[in-house]
Amino acid sequence: MDGMVQADAFEEYLAGIRRLVRERLIPAEARLEGQETLPEDITQRLREAGLFGISIPTRYAGLGLSMEQQVRVMLEVTYASAVFRARFSTTIGLGSQPILYNGTEAQRAEWLPRMASGEATAAFCLTEPEAGSDAGGVRTTARREGAHFVISGTKRYITNARQAQVLIVMARTAEGTRDAAGISAFIIPRDTPGITMGAADRKMGQDGSATSEVYFDEVRVPESALVGGREGGGFKTAMRGINHARLHVATTCVGQAQRLLDEALAYAKQRRQFGQALAEFQLVQAQLADSRAELLAARSMVLETARAFDAAGEAQGPLVADIACCKLFASEMVGRVADRAVQVHGGMGYMRGSVVEQFFRDVRLLRIFEGASDVQRLLIAKEMMR
Ligand SMILES: Cc1cc2nc3c(=O)[nH]c(=O)nc-3n(C[C@H](O)[C@H](O)[C@H](O)COP(=O)(O)OP(=O)(O)OC[C@H]3O[C@@H](n4cnc5c(N)ncnc54)[C@H](O)[C@@H]3O)c2cc1C
Repeated sequence: MDGMVQADAFEEYLAGIRRLVRERLIPAEARLEGQETLPEDITQRLREAGLFGISIPTRYAGLGLSMEQQVRVMLEVTYASAVFRARFSTTIGLGSQPILYNGTEAQRAEWLPRMASGEATAAFCLTEPEAGSDAGGVRTTARREGAHFVISGTKRYITNARQAQVLIVMARTAEGTRDAAGISAFIIPRDTPGITMGAADRKMGQDGSATSEVYFDEVRVPESALVGGREGGGFKTAMRGINHARLHVATTCVGQAQRLLDEALAYAKQRRQFGQALAEFQLVQAQLADSRAELLAARSMVLETARAFDAAGEAQGPLVADIACCKLFASEMVGRVADRAVQVHGGMGYMRGSVVEQFFRDVRLLRIFEGASDVQRLLIAKEMMR
C-alpha cells in the first residue's frame, strides 16, 4: 500500500459513496431479483466511484486506501444489498492482492491499472467439486511443457467468472502431491483457448451476483502467467488476498446488519398492534437491543483489526486468527440480526419484495464462503495451539 489518502480528501470521498448508496444503490435493489449480474448502468457507477480500485496503490491507478479506510468505505457500500459489493469484491481482494504482493513488476503493470479502473474484472478460481473447505486438495493440474504450462480441471461456485476478463487460478504444479505446498497461482486471461464457463448457478439469494463452474481443458499458458514466476507456495500467495477478503466479508456482515436493524426499528415504530407501536413492546425492544449490541461488537472488531492490518504491513501472519475471529463472529452475528429483523416484520418479513426477506437470503452465504464458520473455528484453534 502506498499510504493512506489524506483525511480530508477521504472524508469527502466517503460522503460521495454515502450519496451513491442512498441515491443509486438502494433504489436499484428491487432490480436485482432474478438477475444474473448487475445492470450495466450500476456497474458503471461503481467503476466511476473508484470502487474497483480501493485496494490498489495510486502508482497502479488505484485509490491507495489503507485497510481502515477500505473498511469504512465497505461499511457504507454494504448498507445497500451486498450484491453491489460482490461485483467488485473479487477484483479488490482475491484478484488483485496476490498480484500486488506476490506478482512480478510486469504482472503488476499489466493487470493492476486495468483492475483498478474496473475495465478488467478478476475472478478467483480455487474451489472445485472435490476441494471446498479442504482447499489444499485442489485437483486441477498445471503440467509444465517447456516454457508453458497446460492446465486442466474444473472449478465451481466462482463469483463473477462469467463477467471476468482475467482469472486467478490455483492449480497443482507438483505432480503426485496432495497438499497446499504443491499448488501454484496463475493469472489467465478469460479468452484463453480451452476455457469454458458453465451456466449461471441458481442460488438461494444474492440475485444479481453470478457464480458458475469454470472448465479448463488443456489450457496452454506461458510461464509468465505464474504469479511471481514461482512454482509452489500458491497458498502463501493467496493468503494476503484471503486475509483481505475475509476482513472485507466480516465488514459486509456489519453493513448488512446495520441496514437490517434500521429496517426492523423503522417497521417496529410504524406498525401498530394491540393499540400501540410494536417498538413499545419490551420483548420487541429486547430483539432490537440484542442486535445493536452484537452489531457494535462486530463493528469494533473489524475496525480494530483493520488498524492492526495496516500496522502489520507485510507481516500478516499473526493476524490470521484475528481476521478469522472477525469473519466467524460477524457472519454468525448477521445471521441472528437478519432472523430477528424478519421476526419483527412478522408476515411482512416473509413476503417477496420486502428488504429483510431479500437480505435474509443474501446474508446466509456469509457463513459459508471465504471459509465456512467451522473452518474459521478450526483455523483459530490451530493458530492458538501453535
Ligand atoms: C455464492 C458462492 C460464491 C462463492 N465464490 C467463490 C469464488 O469466487 N471462488 C472460489 O474459489 N470459491 C467460491 N465459493 C466456494 C466457497 O468458498 C465454498 O463453498 C466453501 O469454502 C465451502 O466449501 P464447500 O461448499 O465445498 O463445502 P464443504 O467443504 O463440503 O463443507 C460442507 C460443510 O462441512 C463443514 N466442514 C468441512 N470440513 C470440516 C471440518 N474439518 N470440520 C468441521 N466441519 C467441516 C463446513 O464448515 C460446511 O459447513 C463460493 C461459494 C458460494 C456458495
